[in-house]
Amino acid sequence: MTTIDAVLFDFDGTLAPNLDLPDMRRQVIARSLQAGIPEAVFADLYIVEIIEAGHAWLCAHDSARASHYKNSAEQLIVDIEIGAAASTDVFAGVTDMLAGLRSRGIKLGIVTRNCRAAIDTVFPEHHRYVDALHARDDVSHLKPDPRHLLANLSALAARPASSIMVGDGALDMRAGRELDMRCIGVLTGSNDAAALIQAGANEVQDNCLQLHKFLS
Ligand SMILES: [Mg+2]
Repeated sequence: MTTIDAVLFDFDGTLAPNLDLPDMRRQVIARSLQAGIPEAVFADLYIVEIIEAGHAWLCAHDSARASHYKNSAEQLIVDIEIGAAASTDVFAGVTDMLAGLRSRGIKLGIVTRNCRAAIDTVFPEHHRYVDALHARDDVSHLKPDPRHLLANLSALAARPASSIMVGDGALDMRAGRELDMRCIGVLTGSNDAAALIQAGANEVQDNCLQLHKFLS
């Protein structure tokens, strides 16, 4: 039997219903275009990375507007996240699953691109169920950069190759695979099984609720 040091969970789409990320991205793009940033600067980027690239472009081309753009775009996503959090709860059964894993001595972590305040709102008792939370505010490198996961693994004193990454996102699978973690995709968020396998999932489950039963 293989020892499992830790299980790391993504949050939105994995432990709780997903945020409307496409809509959030559209709103950030609208704000960026309004600030005069050309679309080519951010065309293929994720939301936070759009703001970083837009800010860098403004610093080089229209520096007087740069910090206002950055502050207002960052506030826009926090407002959306906090607004959604107010009416969101973790999936039924999540706390039992987490307690079940923990009772086996497995360390648990959450790694999320959402802000800490939103996680505190949706899952205020997370301190009772997981050992370490690394939200957007807590790290300088976000998933799919594996350093986001490494920060969490390090806090848990867990070895990547003996740990599991669970998430609904392609970026969760990619980050986990870079660290040689076992990656479990779940279908409660934004991807289907084919997309998760393509991104590197070792296996795909309908949801995370049975993990405490089949992980040994
Ligand atoms: Mg997710």
